[in-house]
Amino acid sequence: MPDAAASWPSLASVVPSGTPAAVVVVVVVFAVALGASIGSFLAVVIERVPRGETLGGRSHCACGRELTWRENLPLVSWPLQRGRARCCGAAIPAWYLVLEVCCALVVLGAVLAPGPWWLGPLGGVVVLVALGAAGVAGSGARRGRL
Ligand SMILES: [Zn+2]
Repeated sequence: MPDAAASWPSLASVVPSGTPAAVVVVVVVFAVALGASIGSFLAVVIERVPRGETLGGRSHCACGRELTWRENLPLVSWPLQRGRARCCGAAIPAWYLVLEVCCALVVLGAVLAPGPWWLGPLGGVVVLVALGAAGVAGSGARRGRL
């Protein structure tokens, strides 16, 4: 029986031969940015849906102030602000960053997955929907709403 880790192909084996390195870098950066953005959106869904809030409107701090674009960059803003809001110093939960990192890895894995072209993206969508649903259920349960 083959070792599961050994059966996962290397990056070089999933990229068509002759693909310029710059294209590979762009695809990886795009996949990570897309995944992190999906994670950021899922955090909004997880926070707002159990409260019965709309998903529309700009992101805001717990104190009510709308976030600037620099305070709203997935993977970047949390570490730059050291997990604290600039306006009032309120703690920004670390799970926001963890969710963005996880979703970035899911999308990157989906893009680089071996097998038929549709299998990786399909698996990625299933994992992301499951993450969002689990997050909403967990957040709602924490608030006693679900
Ligand atoms: Zn604030």
